[in-house]
Amino acid sequence: MDVDHVESDLVSVLFTEAQIQARLAELAREIEQDYEGKDLVIVGILRGAVMVMADLARALDRHVEMDWMAVSSYGSGTKSSGVVRILKDLDADISGRHVVIVDEIIDTGLTLSWLTSNLGSRNPASVEICTLLRKPEALTMPVEVKYVGWDIPNHFVVGYGLDFRERYRNLRDIATLAPHVYS
Ligand code: 5GP
Ligand code: MG
Ligand code: MG
Repeated sequence: MDVDHVESDLVSVLFTEAQIQARLAELAREIEQDYEGKDLVIVGILRGAVMVMADLARALDRHVEMDWMAVSSYGSGTKSSGVVRILKDLDADISGRHVVIVDEIIDTGLTLSWLTSNLGSRNPASVEICTLLRKPEALTMPVEVKYVGWDIPNHFVVGYGLDFRERYRNLRDIATLAPHVYS
């Protein structure tokens, strides 16, 4: 295992750091407009959403509370089953408050669908979803996503919080992984 060289593990860069920051700035402007004058809590889903949360929150020119949840979804290998267990719950009481769940990618949408109804049962003023990336399968789920960075083809991507076996999360860009890494 080569722990020093990341570059040779990647096929192509899908989104550069600059593109990601520019898109997050656009989403931040939308969120500022939609929640003008309203109390807002953004909820990052650990661990993948750490980078998106940090950059989106700093792009917002307004007060915002940042909270976190960690969940694990049971499933076979890379597919989630929709059965979700809370590993770390919110610290905040969201009752009567506006909530935006922040995630890095929606694949099947099962995890976020479960989370939306879980948070929805805590009497918030509203619950919406913001994701940087969305894959095609998520479009068939009855989960409404208010803010999407980009819709992408069904390829496995890494970087900017996205991991393969806990590696590549610290890349600044989002890239596709070379097949030799899987095998
Ligand atoms: P789902 O939407 O299927 O419930 O779960 C989405 C989760 O699957 C993401 O949070 C992420 O952990 C994982 N995932 C799905 N697609 C990808 C991908 O292309 N790359 C990486 N690194 N993780 C992915
Ligand atoms: Mg995630
Ligand atoms: Mg992962």
